[in-house]
Amino acid sequence: MASNSDHPDEYYTILESNRSATYAELKRQYQKLIMKYHPDKNTCKVSSEEQENSTEHFVKIDKAWKVLGDRDARKEYDARLFEMEMSQKLPVNSEVDLDDMEHDEVTGCYSYQCRCGGEFVIGDEDMTEGVEVVSCNVCTLCISVLYQLEDES
Ligand SMILES: [Zn+2]
Repeated sequence: MASNSDHPDEYYTILESNRSATYAELKRQYQKLIMKYHPDKNTCKVSSEEQENSTEHFVKIDKAWKVLGDRDARKEYDARLFEMEMSQKLPVNSEVDLDDMEHDEVTGCYSYQCRCGGEFVIGDEDMTEGVEVVSCNVCTLCISVLYQLEDES
């Protein structure tokens, strides 16, 4: 089974929060969760297995808070998240069907407008070469173009 340990938003997810949360919000979440999962609060009415799970979660919450509750550590963590996202998610931002693209009959190219105002352009040659991921000519976004090569029989 795949491990979630390097999930970019892990610490925020553990604190049931998100990256735009302020220090005060994170602290409130931390305090709420730590109360909920504190081993001392869970001694009755739960099985030992449940107790073990919540203790494990308690440790995670504590770890997440040690990072997110510290200004410098959080800054570093956010920077690392950002880098990871850049390296992981860059390739494709969305999928676009070739039929939804604008066909320029003069150049034979298909284009699609990017939200930045730029364009994604794919030409017949690109498609013959099997190119599927096209980057915007202005920003760093990319799209995956869905098309089927015509039979050349
Ligand atoms: Zn763009």
